[in-house]
Amino acid sequence: MTQHHESLYIGGRWTAPSSDRRITVTSPNSGEVIGSVPEALEADVDTAVAAARTAFDDPDGWARSAPAERAAVLRRFADALDARTDTIAATVSSQNGMPVAVSSQLESVYPVMLLRYYADLVENQGDDVRDGLFGGRIRVRHDPVGVVGAIVPWNFPQTLSFFKIAPALAAGCTLVVKPSPETVLDSVLVAEAAIEAGLPAGVLNIVPGGREIGAHLVSHPGVDKVAFTGSTAAGRQIAETCGRLLRPVTLELGGKSAAVVLDDAELDLATIGNDLFVATLANNGQTCFLGTRILAPRSRYAEVVEVFSAFAGSMTVGDSLDPGTQIGPMASERQRDRVEGYIAKGRAEGGRVTVGGGRPTDRAAGWFVEPTVFADVDNNATISQEEIFGPVLSVIAYDDDADAVRIANDSDFGLGGTVWTADPERGLAVASRIRTGTVGVNRYLPDPAAPFGGVKASGIGRELGPEGLANYQSLKSIYC
Ligand code: NAD
Repeated sequence: MTQHHESLYIGGRWTAPSSDRRITVTSPNSGEVIGSVPEALEADVDTAVAAARTAFDDPDGWARSAPAERAAVLRRFADALDARTDTIAATVSSQNGMPVAVSSQLESVYPVMLLRYYADLVENQGDDVRDGLFGGRIRVRHDPVGVVGAIVPWNFPQTLSFFKIAPALAAGCTLVVKPSPETVLDSVLVAEAAIEAGLPAGVLNIVPGGREIGAHLVSHPGVDKVAFTGSTAAGRQIAETCGRLLRPVTLELGGKSAAVVLDDAELDLATIGNDLFVATLANNGQTCFLGTRILAPRSRYAEVVEVFSAFAGSMTVGDSLDPGTQIGPMASERQRDRVEGYIAKGRAEGGRVTVGGGRPTDRAAGWFVEPTVFADVDNNATISQEEIFGPVLSVIAYDDDADAVRIANDSDFGLGGTVWTADPERGLAVASRIRTGTVGVNRYLPDPAAPFGGVKASGIGRELGPEGLANYQSLKSIYC
């Protein structure tokens, strides 16, 4: 069923767009048009920022409301999303190729959790009152930082939006959110839920558009803080703008994480297959934190190649809306071409394809790529250093634990990673030496209660956890 929408969610209501330009979304399963929304232009962004500004500056408004009042709104918002989880999951999967088995957890349950988590957190926060060293008392307030410009990519459009929306709303900020053009249809459902939940006018505004509109939002004089998730290249440009403007910014960027298989690892796919999937292939490889460099001890290299080849080869590739699908299509033709380009490059640089490497023969239409494993890959190879953003794993040999840590850290990126071992203490020791913002032992999934983000080219700052709330708060010390 195609979905065509006529208005933009600005100022708490459906608003006529400033032009008749539209964003059309096509199915990655078939290439057919599945819907469209109005494209926001600069004038619409200006209107949205003005609405967010007015809502924020209202002396009796959202920013000044009691945390308990905001928490109540967040919980209603969570309930309204909760009532739409099936539609949201299907809408996301129909646009970006995410298997619906994945979206029905990570794209629909997760945002609801985040809203409820931050509602609880802010309700219980209060001012911090301490004794001053010069006598007297100091009251440290957590003021909202202001109007937030939030820019999100297409790979997890809902969850990555709510990484920002939930803590920002909890803190008392107002937002203008810019979804990626590939995934604009699900943002309509967010707006519907916001209206149903009774979010005050202007507190949340959504402007679907491309990178020019994103850049306009980042540099807009009415914006106080920028929260960005996307590519490292775009992150650098946004950081430059925010640096010039002295505008606070959090950047969640690309990754090229390592999955370190220690020499004592238990590699029974019946036991670890599900955790391995989340850590290395989830969402068709289009996930920033995936451990796509598989580091294997030389003593067990052939076995690790065999296990990972069997694992990738066992994946059910199919339509993203089929509940049995594990690997759906790439989000777009451009993304499919990019992944195929990397596979060709991997071959040209001497990598040996042990499974996959082409397009599935039973898929006449859509942007499908077979799950692919490369063996005999050096960590300096292009496919080991650059983010492919597809279902492509490289198995790289190492000598001992120290060598594994060295290779894991030999990357421009520093987002995630995993250690696979029969000995959790040893796993923890190796994990502690991996230079990334997050790492898992025998499993990996960003937990709402823990700070998430990267070092080096993977970004600046953290989202999630209490630290994620702090992003949207400005500390004010009152000496009294
Ligand atoms: P992208 O950088 O091309 O686009 C991301 C968003 O930014 C889109 O909404 C886009 O329109 C906008 N944008 C692009 N250039 C901009 C600019 N100069 N100014 C303002 N806005 C701009 O990335 P993508 O291809 O949509 O997403 C994939 C990338 O996102 C991958 O590199 C992936 O690793 C990264 N990612 C990171 C995380 C994380 O948490 N670290 C999570 C998911 C995805």
